[in-house]
Order: sequence, then C-alpha cells, then structure tokens
Amino acid sequence: LMVLTKKLIEVRNLLKTVNNNSNLQLPSIVVVGSQSSGKSSVLEAIVGHEFLPKGSNMVTRRPIELTLIHSENSKEEYGEFPQLGLGKISDFRKIQKTLTDLNLAVPESECVSSSPIELRIYSPNVPDLTLVDLPGYIQIHSRHQPPTLKQKIADLCDLYIKENNIILAVCAADVDLANSEALRASRKVDPYGNRTIGVLTKMDLVDPNDAVAKLKNPDFPLQLGYIGVVCKGSSSGPGQALIRAEESYFKSHPEFKNANASVGTPVLRNRLMKVLEEHMGKGLYRIVDQVEKELDDARYQFKVHYNDQKISPESYVAEAMDSLKTRFKAFTKEFGKPQVRDAVRTMLEDRIRDICDEVYWNDPRIQMLPKICADPVWATRLDLTFASLTKSGVGRSSVQLVIDTLLQKMEDILSTDQFAHHPEARAQILQFSNDILRSKFHVTVDQVENTIKPYKFEVECSEQEWQEGVKRATALLDSTLASDESELKSIKSTFGRRRLRNAINQIRKYEKDPEAGPATAAELGIESERDAKLFASAREALRLQKHISTLQGRLGALRSRQCAVSTNKSCCPEALMEVLADKLTYTAVMFIYVELLNEFFFQLPREVDNKLYYDLNRQQILKFANENPSVRKHLEIQERKATLELVMEKLRSLNRKH
Ligand code: GDP
Repeated sequence: LMVLTKKLIEVRNLLKTVNNNSNLQLPSIVVVGSQSSGKSSVLEAIVGHEFLPKGSNMVTRRPIELTLIHSENSKEEYGEFPQLGLGKISDFRKIQKTLTDLNLAVPESECVSSSPIELRIYSPNVPDLTLVDLPGYIQIHSRHQPPTLKQKIADLCDLYIKENNIILAVCAADVDLANSEALRASRKVDPYGNRTIGVLTKMDLVDPNDAVAKLKNPDFPLQLGYIGVVCKGSSSGPGQALIRAEESYFKSHPEFKNANASVGTPVLRNRLMKVLEEHMGKGLYRIVDQVEKELDDARYQFKVHYNDQKISPESYVAEAMDSLKTRFKAFTKEFGKPQVRDAVRTMLEDRIRDICDEVYWNDPRIQMLPKICADPVWATRLDLTFASLTKSGVGRSSVQLVIDTLLQKMEDILSTDQFAHHPEARAQILQFSNDILRSKFHVTVDQVENTIKPYKFEVECSEQEWQEGVKRATALLDSTLASDESELKSIKSTFGRRRLRNAINQIRKYEKDPEAGPATAAELGIESERDAKLFASAREALRLQKHISTLQGRLGALRSRQCAVSTNKSCCPEALMEVLADKLTYTAVMFIYVELLNEFFFQLPREVDNKLYYDLNRQQILKFANENPSVRKHLEIQERKATLELVMEKLRSLNRKH
C-alpha cells in the first residue's frame, strides 16, 4: 500500500517543477497551530530529529515544505534543500541552522513570507509523507512584534488550508479548545471536519480523564478524529527515548486504554500515512485527467513552435562558441599584414604632418629652401627631423594601435544579437583578448624598437623608393592643402567675405610692423563678443592663407627636377620622411604580425574553448542557455513536456496496480 504514497510524492515533486498551477497539485498535510502549542515538537517527533528553528523570538517566517522519504534499504539519514543545491546534509543541527538562516533572511518589515522553503528528509525511520509547517498563530501580542504580524500569519495559513490539503490542527491539551486558533481556522474551510486531523499535545499536563474527554471534543467533531500525544522535549532530542517516554506515560494511565482513545506519536504517524494515501488516491483520477490535458497542451506547443525539434543547453553553448569562432576566423583572414600596415602608416602620416608643420612649414625661410638647401644648416635640420620620427616611440604606439584595433574588432564581433543575451560571457571574452594582448605587449614593443634602431642613424633608399616617397609626400601635401582650404572656406561663409576682408585689413594695418606686437581691441574696433569672434577667425584665416601658400610652394618644389632624384634629400624633407615612414611601417608590422597577431589569432579560440566550453559545469551551461529568452522558452516547453510524460508514465503504472 505504501508504494502508492511514495510514488505519488514523487509525482507531486515532479509536478511542482512543472508549474504552480494548483490544478496540478497533489494534496499535502499542512500543520497549523498556535505558538507554543507544541507544533515543532510533534513534527520533530514524527521525523525523529530536532531540526526546526528555536529561540525566544524565533517565529517561523516562511512555510517549510517538508517531504519525508522512507528509504528502506539505507541506514543513511540526511536532509536536502533542493532549492539551494547544498547536497546531502547528514548533520541535523546543520539543517536547523540553515532553516534558521533562511527564516532570518526574511526582512523584518515583511514579517512573514509566503515563499516556501523546500526540505527533503531521507531516512529509514520516517514514513513517506509531505508536510507543510506554517508559522504559529499568535494569540497574545508581544511588544516586539509588529501589529500586522498576527494577521499576516493568519492569511498565510488560510492560503494553505483552503486548498485540497489535509489540515493537521495542533492544540495544546492544557488550553481550552474553544480558544484554538487552528480549529477555528480549519472550521471555516472544512466545516464538516472531513479533512482535518486534530492533535492534542501536552497530554501529560492535564488530568487523564479530562484528556480523554477532550479527545472526543463534541464541539467540533472530526471525521479523522483527534489524537493525543506527549512530546516533551528531552535532552537527547526527539528520538526513541521520547517515544518510549510517551508510551510509558499512556501505559501508566489506564484511563486512555479503557476509553479506547487514540494516543501516541506512532498512532499519529500511521493515521497521517493512511489519510494522506487515501486523499492522494482519491485525487488520482482527477490528476491523471489534468496531467493528460497539460501534456497535450505541452506537446502541441512543442510541435507548433519548435516543430518537435529538441535542443540541449550543451548544444546551444557549443553552437554559440562555434559561431563566435567562425566570425573570429573570418576576421583573422581579412585583417592581414596589408590592413595592419595601412593602420600603422596612417598613424605615421599624421606624425609626419605634425613634424613638418613644426620644423618646416611654419618657418618663414621655407620659401627659400629650394635655393639654399645645400646649406649645412638644412642638412642638420633634416637629421633632427628624422630623429624625432624614429625616436617618437614608434614601437610602443604602433603596437598599441594594433591592440586597440583588435580589441575594437572583438567588441564588434561580440556585439551580435546572440551575445547581447550573454553580457557576462562577452565581458569574459573581451577580458581574455585583453589578457593575451597585454601579455605580448612588451615583447612586441621591444622587438619593434630593436629592429627599427638602424633607421635612427641613416636611411638608404633606391631611386624607386625615393619616387614612391615623393609621390606620397605630394599626396600628403595635397590632402593637407585640401583640409586648409575647406577650413578657410567655412570661415568665409560664416562671416561673409566682405566683413572678413575688412577685419583682415584692419589687422594688417595695425600689425604691419612686427615689432609693434598684436593690435589692441580698441585699435581693431572690437566692441562685442561677436566682434571678438570675427577677429579671432580673421587671424585664423590669415594663418591659413599663409599656410596654404607655403604648401603650394612645397608642392611646386616636390614636383621640380630638384626632387626628382634622391641626391638632393635635404631639399625635399617631406619625401625623405615618407621613405622613412614606409620602412618603419614594413619593419614594425613584420614583427607585430609574428609576435602579437599570430599569437592572438592562435590563442584566443583555444582560450574560449577552454574557459567557456570545457570548463563549464552543468549549472553554468544551464545559466548560459537560459540567458537567451528564446532558448529558455524552448527548453522550458521541452522540459515541461518531458516531465509531464514521466509523470504520466508513473501515474499509468499506478493506475494499473490499483
Ligand atoms: P511550537 O511553538 O508550537 O512549535 O511549540 P514547541 O514545540 O516549541 O513547544 C513549546 C513548549 O512546549 C516547549 O517548551 C516544549 O518542550 C513544550 N512541550 C511540547 N510538547 C509537550 C508535551 O507533550 N508535554 C509537555 N509537558 N511539554 C511539551
């Protein structure tokens, strides 16, 4: 017979994972009673261990859903909190401590919480039962308790007793039963006493004849009857000693036997098992029907939405990582030496522009350069310019540039829809990328600096290289010129040509003599902020005009016969800088490629595999898969269908037997 309850408890726990639909719930025994009625003592007597939270101000603040599993063939006794995943706990003091912590975690302001704590206890000494321990009713208010607590507890108990559950109403025998909060509450939802069992505790505290009379309780008769117990706490806890003490109490008072009264914890246990089994058995047909309906629905959904396609969290993770690696691979193919060279050269071009601007283009004597470039002063200046490029930390900045580009690219690769669901994994992969690149940084920088060292002293070039240099220098001047011109144009259109011309003339008039210094606001006629802006722009326009004419002069020089051959290097510094930049770029990129890029392209996919695939445990895999809402939904329905199928199978096998 007991097999039924066991199976149904399994079914009950399975159904709980499917959903909270109350139609799909098998009945349980809910334990209600006033504070200090002896509720905990009764439960502990049934379990045979002390495990419930105690303490003067310790009110149970959350329902404890207790599943007792009779393990016939094992001597092992242990508890499990399935929600916490702590594994087997054999020390019942630890169970008690965990329950206390979970209770205390409910914030003071909330008083009680309706979210249940699940606890399973496996033991050869317990019957198969499901019990829900609820907070005890408060009868007298203590000053330390919030006034709403009493109502909140009553409401929570109502929630549990109104369902199709069996009510275990615990009352102390030394208190007038008419005052029992538990009986009052149960009468409201079960007026005929069909599903209520009364437990009278502390039988030892009243006269045996009175006790026997109370067990009949004619004021509120119960179909399932009242049972009297003595569960006085002993120093050794609620074990066999307690049961023996109880037994000897009832034996030593023949009144109980004579009246054929139901007394003793073993009687209570048996009654509970029997009642629960009957109740569950009665609900069986209804449950089979409901499960069938739910299963049909789940099957339908699975077919319609997912075409019966099964997925597993593992395969989802593998797919996500594969698609990441594919995209990464595609990137490594398209980000080769030419692309890295382009990036480094663009950086160096900017630098050449800055250097030429500073050393040559803003020097008034530059106009004369083609005529006087044989002068050793200019040759020296060329050497200095040269050095300022080679010594500007090309190694460090080019490596940094490539690292920045790579990290940016990784962000792009990881900004797909899929990884938007997995911010943690995304951050982790970026971290790996960063770590790998950082670890190569110094070696690469040193390598690059070493190999470009010779260029700090001289640069040799073929005529063809020189021609290329001239071409690129021309392009550099052209683009600088173009940007100057567009800037000038925008200034003109902001203020109007005429006003700008007037302002320029004004500046020229007062600043003709370079000794005189800048003109004063009064001289220029600046009266407002607008005027001030106008004159600032006029100055900028003057500078641009001068710059443009210099650049045009330089373009002329570069195109002249003088610059057509490499023998007149100091006449054409821009070209020589370009030749140098080209050599630096080639050399730097060669080493950056070997030391940094190749390593990165090789290591990152392996790192991703190791840390985000092979290293993940089942729980992390589930977490990852469930981060994606569409996968979560798919898994949910699939899981639901599988669970319901399992339940159905169990139920069918029961039906066949009974
Ligand atoms: P709860 O607040 O309803 O859980 O009540 P407890 O189980 O903590 O019991 C309250 C007090 O009554 C404790 O001091 C118990 O030792 C005591 N008690 C419980 N059952 C009995 C009993 O059958 N006889 C006697 N004499 N005391 C009991």
